[in-house]
Amino acid sequence: MNTIYNFSAGPAVLPKEVLQQAASEMLDWHGSGMSVMEMSHRGPEFMAILAQAQADLRELLNVPANYKILFLQGGGLGENAIVPLNLVGRKAQPATIDFIHTGSWSGKSIKEAKKYANVNVAASSENTGERAGFSGVPDPASWKLSADPAYVHVCTNETIDGIEFQFVPDIAARSNGAPLVADMSSHILSRAIDVSKYGVIFGGAQKNIGPAGLTLVIVREDLLGHALPICPSAFDWKIVAENDSMYNTPPTYSIYIAGLVFQWLKRQGGVAAMEQKNIAKANLLYDYLDSTDFYVTRVAKEHRSRMNVPFYLKDESLNAAFLAAAKERGLLQLKGHKSVGGMRASIYNAMPIEGVQALVEFMREFSLSN
Ligand SMILES: *Cc1c(COP(=O)(O)O)cnc(C)c1O
Repeated sequence: MNTIYNFSAGPAVLPKEVLQQAASEMLDWHGSGMSVMEMSHRGPEFMAILAQAQADLRELLNVPANYKILFLQGGGLGENAIVPLNLVGRKAQPATIDFIHTGSWSGKSIKEAKKYANVNVAASSENTGERAGFSGVPDPASWKLSADPAYVHVCTNETIDGIEFQFVPDIAARSNGAPLVADMSSHILSRAIDVSKYGVIFGGAQKNIGPAGLTLVIVREDLLGHALPICPSAFDWKIVAENDSMYNTPPTYSIYIAGLVFQWLKRQGGVAAMEQKNIAKANLLYDYLDSTDFYVTRVAKEHRSRMNVPFYLKDESLNAAFLAAAKERGLLQLKGHKSVGGMRASIYNAMPIEGVQALVEFMREFSLSN
C-alpha cells in the first residue's frame, strides 16, 4: 500500500506521533483512570494540561508578557464578529475599521464587520492581476488608511487563494497608532513572527494546530476592556482573560491535542526550524510548477503561500482523472476550494517533505502520460 499523504486545507493532517500518543492515552491519561474528554475542566489534571499548552505556545511564538493567550471557541469566522465586538468600542460610535482585501477570508471578515462598524477597504487586490480573482497583496504604500480606525485587519495567509504576507505592514504612524489585527488561521506556527507588531492575532486550530473547536486569540493587554455591551460574555476577551480561558467550558480535548502538537513542535526545533522545513517544501512544489506548463499557478511569486498551494491543470478536462489517480497513489484531498476550482495542496507543518516529493513525482508522471 502507498503511504498516505493528506493535503487537506482543514481540518488537516496532524503529526503521526501526536495521534499515536493521543491513542495510547485515550482511555487513561497519565494513570488518572480517565480520558481527557471525561475530566472536569477545573480539575488538577486538565488545569495542568491547559497551563502547559499555554506556556509552550508562549515559548514557541515568543509571546511578550503584555499579551494574553486565550483559548476560545467559535472558529475563525466567529472571530469575524468577536474581534469587532471587542475592539470597536475603543472609538466613538460608529467606529471605522480598515481592511486589506486579499482574498476569500478577508472578504468574509469585511462582510461580517459591516454589522458592527463602518468598513473602509483600504486596499484590495481583487482582479488587479492578469487573471480574475486575487493574485497578491497590494503594496502597503498604496493603502488608503483612515485617519483614526479602531483597527486594521489583514488575513496574513489566504487559505483559498494561496496568498501569504511575506512582510509585516508598518502602519501605526499612518493610522493614528491603530492596532494591526491578523487572521493567521492557516499559517500560525509555520514561520517565526514578531508578535509585538500586532495588536491581535487569531486563528482557528484546525489548519496548523490541532482539531477543530479550538480558536486561538493572542491579544495585547491594553486592548482588553472595550467590548460593546452587546458582546456575549463568553466572547468578551477581558472576561475570558480574567478567567484564564475558563469562563465557560473550553474545548478540552482540542486543547489537549493542540498541547501535544506544541510539544511536537518543540521537539522539531521550534518555529524557526519549522519555517526552514516549510520553505524547502514550498520551494520543491513551486519550482516544479514553474518548470512545466502542464500546470498553472495564478499567484504572483512574491506573494505565494508556503502553506496552501493552489494550481490548475492547463487542460481542466483532466481534473477528475488527476484527482482519481492521485487518490490511487495515496495523495488525498487535493481538490481546490469550490469557489476557485482547480487543485490545492496544503502543506502544513505536519506534512513531511516526503509527502511533497511524492506529490511532485506523481504530478510529473501524470503530465507525461496525459
Ligand atoms: C479556515 C479559515 C477560517 C474559518 O475558520 P472556521 O473555523 O471555519 O470558522 C478563517 N480564516 C482563515 C484564514 C481560514 O483559513
